[in-house]
Amino acid sequence: MQKNNNLRKKEKDREIALERIESLFNQAKEVFKKDSSLSDRYVKIANKIAMKTKTKIPAKFKRNFCKHCLSYLKPGINCRIRTKNKNLIYYCMNCKKYTKFGLKKPK
Ligand SMILES: [Zn+2]
Repeated sequence: MQKNNNLRKKEKDREIALERIESLFNQAKEVFKKDSSLSDRYVKIANKIAMKTKTKIPAKFKRNFCKHCLSYLKPGINCRIRTKNKNLIYYCMNCKKYTKFGLKKPK
């Protein structure tokens, strides 16, 4: 039974982690206008939680930050979006790197 309890605890941990990640991204969005560096900090914390608990960042937030420098991205402000070959190319103005997102999931 010990094993089962551990499994449940892990699931619970991930659930909590996911909630925290979600609220961190929401906060990052809110404070961006006032203090974008604070948004970056929230994104970094969210990533740390995700790594520690082996939780995936929800897909809806994946386009909200730069995977290279972990800064919060706001299209038109610190990031530019281009489309190329059915891919979305996000250009991060902070670290000057590109992040590619597929428009459609590969089969
Ligand atoms: Zn970047």
